[in-house]
Amino acid sequence: MAWDIVIAGGGFGGYYAARTLERVLPPHSARVTLVNDVNFLLYTPLLPGAAAGTLEPRHVVVPLREQLRTTDLWLGRVSSAEPASNCLLVDSLDGRRHHLHYDQLIVALGSISRTLPIPGLVEHALGFKTLSEAIALRNRVISQLEIAETIPDAETRAEYLTFVFVGAGYAGLEGLAELQDFMSDIIDLYPRCCVQGMRFVLVEAKERVMPEVAPDLAAFAERELRGRGIEIRTGTTIEEVTDRTVRLRGGETIPARTVVWTAGVKPHPVVARLGLPLTPAGRLDVDQTMRVRDHANVWAIGDAAAVPDPARKGQASPPTAQHAIRQGRRVARNVAAELGVEGRVKPFKYRTLGVFVDMGRHQAVASTMGIKWRGFPAWFLARTYHLANMPGMRRKLRLVADWTVSLLFDRDTSELGQLGHPPELERHGGVSDGGRPASQPETPKTQV
Ligand SMILES: Cc1cc2nc3c(=O)[nH]c(=O)nc-3n(C[C@H](O)[C@H](O)[C@H](O)COP(=O)(O)OP(=O)(O)OC[C@H]3O[C@@H](n4cnc5c(N)ncnc54)[C@H](O)[C@@H]3O)c2cc1C
Repeated sequence: MAWDIVIAGGGFGGYYAARTLERVLPPHSARVTLVNDVNFLLYTPLLPGAAAGTLEPRHVVVPLREQLRTTDLWLGRVSSAEPASNCLLVDSLDGRRHHLHYDQLIVALGSISRTLPIPGLVEHALGFKTLSEAIALRNRVISQLEIAETIPDAETRAEYLTFVFVGAGYAGLEGLAELQDFMSDIIDLYPRCCVQGMRFVLVEAKERVMPEVAPDLAAFAERELRGRGIEIRTGTTIEEVTDRTVRLRGGETIPARTVVWTAGVKPHPVVARLGLPLTPAGRLDVDQTMRVRDHANVWAIGDAAAVPDPARKGQASPPTAQHAIRQGRRVARNVAAELGVEGRVKPFKYRTLGVFVDMGRHQAVASTMGIKWRGFPAWFLARTYHLANMPGMRRKLRLVADWTVSLLFDRDTSELGQLGHPPELERHGGVSDGGRPASQPETPKTQV
């Protein structure tokens, strides 16, 4: 009898678990099903490049069907689970509910942006975690320039030309740096805005930017950003957001119509509906082998799970792609071991090998195996690293092509916000704006 192995979530952790299972399981010994709500893996470290237009949005994702050979991809949304009967509940895209049986379940459902109860935040701020948010941000900043160009009053125009990022981790710092780079490349096309100038503000609650990297590298990154005219406010938070302003702790009010929230993540809300034990932080409670507490056939990895960090005793692994990838590979081998196929169930052992923070304009900071890099060599290393890690030769070539094109040509300023939102067809027999029946043509058609 073939075993049923179900993987919930096809991001970094789930995808690498599926690929490893394809490799280690004997043919036809198990049915591996990967459930994901989209048919691609989002390569998040390249999201700032997509927002800044140096990369095509389609080139920062990996189509799962292209990369998986024997895994069955099931497109749908996990809604809950019944661990007592080994069942995962999945709603397909057309709304039908399926009960997927599993002998072994791997949960890799990732995380969402963690918001705080700040008045106006949810209503007015943008997130920067998904592809749609990155593209929405790009369209937003271009439309802000277009609107600002039509406004005669400098004070009102300033609201459209001010961009506030909250949270100076990977996403905030790289996102802001790439966006500032993009906008300073295109601002000359907007004469009024060019004379007035733009304002970028990075707000961070901790005392320094990039808590993930060594203090001297973070200081280098901070100097680089300040050198570009970006204002950095550390040790403070925001207290209120309106459609035209951001108020900081201490009372300072910044007139700004674009606020981007990148202040941390929390496990995807669906993990709380799986009937599995959680830690106080809401991540799935697992041991060092990534097995969920008290559930012998359920495993959890990535941002959704509190996998003990081998490098920091008593703490959970940080929510990074490099941890999710290694956990995916290890958990697949543990599942295979559990089914009697290969080796023993082993603990997760990975320690961070390095970090890269790409700041655009050929500038980055990096730390690899104890060696620190900054400036152009770090930027080159970061690009090489992502190229090596992007799954599939065709995807790698697309990245190289995009990067080369962006070196040779000017930036594209088309605002394609209407993509994916086509206008409705006019109703037959309806009444158009001018009171004329909608179906009647404006001028009589010539008979041919
Ligand atoms: C802008 C940005 C930049 C980053 N840069 C880096 C970096 O440079 N280096 C690094 O190491 N990390 C980086 N990270 C962090 C990294 O992206 C995450 O840690 C990593 O994606 C976690 O992997 P995962 O498998 O746990 O989750 P994910 O990769 O998020 O995968 C979860 C999957 O589950 C799917 N899913 C969610 N809910 C459901 C549902 N109900 N039903 C079905 N499917 C569902 C999602 O669509 C997704 O495909 C960055 C993150 C962001 C946002």
